[in-house]
Amino acid sequence: CGITGYIGNDRLAKQLILEGLRRLEYRGYDSAGIALGGEMFEVVKRVGRVERLAEALEQVEESNIGVGHTRWATHGKPTEQNAHPHVSADGRFALVHNGVIENAEALKQQYVADVEFTSTTDTEVIVQLLGKFVADGLDVSDAFQKTIQLLKGSYAVVCLDRQNQQTLYVAKNKSPLVIAFAENSTMVASDEMAVSDRCHSALQLEDGELAIIQPTCHMLRTLQGERIDREPYELQVES
Ligand code: GLU
Repeated sequence: CGITGYIGNDRLAKQLILEGLRRLEYRGYDSAGIALGGEMFEVVKRVGRVERLAEALEQVEESNIGVGHTRWATHGKPTEQNAHPHVSADGRFALVHNGVIENAEALKQQYVADVEFTSTTDTEVIVQLLGKFVADGLDVSDAFQKTIQLLKGSYAVVCLDRQNQQTLYVAKNKSPLVIAFAENSTMVASDEMAVSDRCHSALQLEDGELAIIQPTCHMLRTLQGERIDREPYELQVES
């Protein structure tokens, strides 16, 4: 299971995310999916190899933002519907997750019992909570923070907002997530290996932290919203 995301000034998301997912194949997976920004806000998923996903994406336009996922099913069968990204009921948010949400069922009953779910994963509740809190009037970063505060379990989460394609929302607890920087772009991944040949520096997100990422800047926060300062370390750029 693995995650790769891209946000940048260049339209390279599809290409770099697929490359990243191929490099994460060693982690094992049963299905793969991607969400790409743009007019269409494409979400494409396939059971099986990353190459099948790549074939399905051949006619899909490049984008400046996207997130990809390889899934190792823990809750719900390895089907196309259960593959990530999962999308909020209003179609606005697309989200990928590695890990296990232990209180998924309780959160579903308490907050989004009226929402029709399209998967049987523990993940979908995260994106439905986010959609609900935004519909209730919170701005997206507050809604994201509130959503993450409610989760119990392990997660690396990356989320895309169709209405603001200049930002990625990221959170981590007990599943790895690294943020890596290149000249005109920022990437996120489960493992440095997925991004290292084009990024000059990186930082590890720690447990209980959130990040709000734009093409050339980022902000780290605790779950309570306090700002965190952390210097990136240098990466060896391969030539
Ligand atoms: N628990 C989630 C699922 O079953 C994520 C699994 C993973 O880490 O790939 O969909």
